[in-house]
Amino acid sequence: MRARKAEPRGEQDGVVDHEIAVIGSGFSGLGMAIELKRRGQDDFVVLERADSVGGTWRDNHYPGCACDIPAPLYSFSFAPNPDWSSFYAGWEEIRAYLEDCTDRFGVRPHIRFGNGARVARWEEQGQRWQLTLDDDSTLTARFLVAGTGPLSQPSFPDIDGLEDFEGPLMHSAAWDRDVELEGKRVAVIGTGASAIQIVPAIAERVSHLDVYQRTPPWVMPRLDPEFGPRARAAFRRFPIVQRALRGLIWLIQESLAIPLSIWPGLTRLLEVQARLHLRRSIPDPELRERLTPQYKVGCKRITAAADYYPAMARDNVDVVTEPISRLTATGMETADGKLHPADVIVCATGFDIRKSMGQAELRGRDGTSLQARWSERIEAYRGTMISGFPNLFMLSGPNTGTGNMSQVFMIEAQLRFIRELLATMRRRNATVVDVRREAQEAYNAELDQRLDGTVWLTGGCKSWYLTEEGHTGVLWPGFSTEFRRSLREVREEELEFTPSPRPAAPPAEPAVAGS
Ligand code: NAP
Repeated sequence: MRARKAEPRGEQDGVVDHEIAVIGSGFSGLGMAIELKRRGQDDFVVLERADSVGGTWRDNHYPGCACDIPAPLYSFSFAPNPDWSSFYAGWEEIRAYLEDCTDRFGVRPHIRFGNGARVARWEEQGQRWQLTLDDDSTLTARFLVAGTGPLSQPSFPDIDGLEDFEGPLMHSAAWDRDVELEGKRVAVIGTGASAIQIVPAIAERVSHLDVYQRTPPWVMPRLDPEFGPRARAAFRRFPIVQRALRGLIWLIQESLAIPLSIWPGLTRLLEVQARLHLRRSIPDPELRERLTPQYKVGCKRITAAADYYPAMARDNVDVVTEPISRLTATGMETADGKLHPADVIVCATGFDIRKSMGQAELRGRDGTSLQARWSERIEAYRGTMISGFPNLFMLSGPNTGTGNMSQVFMIEAQLRFIRELLATMRRRNATVVDVRREAQEAYNAELDQRLDGTVWLTGGCKSWYLTEEGHTGVLWPGFSTEFRRSLREVREEELEFTPSPRPAAPPAEPAVAGS
């Protein structure tokens, strides 16, 4: 069913009013904007704090930054890109792809750059979200779509003396390209998915590199074949070839859900592969021992790289496993009292998911903020709606992540759900929708049961996926197709609709824009 083209409500009493406000212009926010545009909806605004689109692919531009999910799958299904240069696209290409989609689908005029949403409050009386932007201007919208994702706010390590260090100190997600690394002593804190890309990219350039490893990652071998001119021409000329490749990649990635969330015993097979990779790459048994994880593969995000271990084995690279006790003006001091001089420090220490998802201060029906609601536990209904926060849709919300699948696939499943839900609202002549608390609780109780058996909870590690209490508000415990199927149908009995005071308008002609 197609959407009716909404009439822009324009400005009322000096306050601009839209049918839909979208926060963020990464894959989530842009995906929503494109979906609306393709359905003929024009009355929406995208609020973007930065001065360009791209979200995480704009902010993360550290050396070596690339996607670890193959590019033909890490893109919108409706906008294949025949020009990927290789299997795993670098951040520049992904960012350029998102810029291209912004123009190709005509959503750029809807984006307000340099002005993010600071606060959004649900106004019961007007049945609208009231937003205060960074520049203190306000706007209202019937629907609010939060597309800020879980990985937008960097998390710095909680180490004494962080502010005492006198050289440049930067986070992987806020790389300062003006900082000279050539010939410098550099320290990288962390060995997660970001660090394993940074370390090989800078190891040759620096005079010395200390990698501070608290927990070693499992690193799988990886090939990154290039798409040469012939392959690219074939993708362009016969789109079915690229679709077939996408399908094949999807199948391989999807099969990883079995060891991760259904039958963790199977992670042994991945472990054998990872151990072989380690043995082949690191001849020194002592170093190999220090790089060998003591938890199940997949418990933390599985990483893959051909160049990480060779970089760790270089003469100018030291793996420091002694805990950091403090930072000094000139470097690090470790728990054994040793001083490690550094000219530059890189914190590849991950993200604050609470701050990221609740980037704007969202206040629902009873004035409670989402941050407060989530202080004990991050949860939502089907990853997309939150009881008490009517007409709010969250993309890449709680329990929509996977350790194996393209997040874009999950976002598209959510977009389809939102589309169907908006269609249901029109059919019912409803202006407000909220999820019943008991439906949200039942959904999460079922999720908890399934999560209990996954490698993330049973694999013997701590990760950003888990809270201190051992709960994950991040991951989806199953196949991505299951997630998509579960969002296919709008279960009206689980939702609460508020009818419009006005009679229903006659159905309008369908309209589709974009390609
Ligand atoms: P991360 O996986 O959370 O890793 C953070 C690293 O910092 C861990 O090794 C952690 O050690 C370490 N650390 C944190 N505080 C520390 C401290 N005080 N002292 C020493 N070490 C400390 O963060 P990330 O690498 O940025 O990756 C986050 C997520 O971003 C990934 O899981 C993935 O979803 C996404 N990502 C994706 C790609 C891609 O290719 N698509 C690339 C990069 C990132 P512990 O392990 O001991 O906690």
